[in-house]
Amino acid sequence: MQTQSKPPILWANLALFVGTFVLATAGVILYGFHSGYSAPHWIWLIICFSFCGLSITAGYHRLWSHKSYQAHFFLRAIFAIGGAFALQNSVLHWSSDHRRHHKYVDDNDKDPYSAKRGFWFSHIGWMLREYQGESYSDYRHCRDLQRDPIVMWQHKHYVALALATNLGIPFLLGVIYGDIIGFMLMVGALRLVLSHHTTFFINSLAHVWGSQPYTTKNTARDNHLLALLTFGEGYHNYHHLFESDYRNGIRWWQFDPTKWLIKSASWLGLAQNLRTVSNFKIEKAKLTQQFQQAKTNIIALPNPEKILATFESELQQLLEKLQEYETLKQSMIASACSSVKEKYEQALVKVRLEQLDLYLTEKKQQWQNLLDNPRLAAI
Ligand SMILES: [Zn+2]
Ligand SMILES: [Zn+2]
Repeated sequence: MQTQSKPPILWANLALFVGTFVLATAGVILYGFHSGYSAPHWIWLIICFSFCGLSITAGYHRLWSHKSYQAHFFLRAIFAIGGAFALQNSVLHWSSDHRRHHKYVDDNDKDPYSAKRGFWFSHIGWMLREYQGESYSDYRHCRDLQRDPIVMWQHKHYVALALATNLGIPFLLGVIYGDIIGFMLMVGALRLVLSHHTTFFINSLAHVWGSQPYTTKNTARDNHLLALLTFGEGYHNYHHLFESDYRNGIRWWQFDPTKWLIKSASWLGLAQNLRTVSNFKIEKAKLTQQFQQAKTNIIALPNPEKILATFESELQQLLEKLQEYETLKQSMIASACSSVKEKYEQALVKVRLEQLDLYLTEKKQQWQNLLDNPRLAAI
């Protein structure tokens, strides 16, 4: 019988993950009982955790991996330092892995953290053995990033930056507040472990737990709870379909502080060319997905051909009107509206938009009724 040998263990990574985890759990608890923690310990833990998390989500992920907006030199430098503090390898390396993850999602050979290889592998296992081998320094998917001086500066000095931030910041805070061990444990170890595992959840949990409102072509899921823990990255099903959108939570009420940070940066002139996907494309993906999911139930019903035909026709009508709505809305935004004639034309467009709005509300309700009870489509 042939046995497939596993790649060698990466002892430095293993020691780092185990060591920081022990310090962040047993170390933090024991020291807490012994000396206690004051408000600054907790406040700096939150500040540094947020700095690391947002540098990864707004910087490594949405800026560099997906180019969903452009950022000022100053902002890029901040994110590069925050990413080194988060100890998740250089921007270049992280983005290279992440672009391959999107391109080959769920492919057990080509997706570096394929969720189909199991929860443990996609969460942390992929970093514990030399799975990447000779492709480790292959940055062919990131040629554009190699032209960014900040990316290359951080890549070159990554180890020094990682050590300076991870040891220097907690140490400095410890000196200021007179408790070096307490800050090394809280802002050093605990902050790092929280930052690591919340990011890792996106590769593991966000591919197994949650809903799939936009696509079932990959394992990515939308999960509100994960969004809370990951600065808005929990809307992973949407993200895998529309990766160039600077938002992950597209509704105003969806918890996506990364989106809010990028938008605020654009108001300050630190970010520009924020990319979004049109409402029509989003609605189309969602409706099509709902239809695909309903199909499995419809096939089991009597007279499925008639029901499917009704669904298809309803979907078609909805999409046509949604497309018209989107086009009119775009023309409203684009028109300068200087002359009386243009003002009159725009008033007509406004009336048409209101009519369409009413029609779409009704039509969407009908569509929902059909989804809830597909038998209605046979009548
Ligand atoms: Zn993913
Ligand atoms: Zn992504």
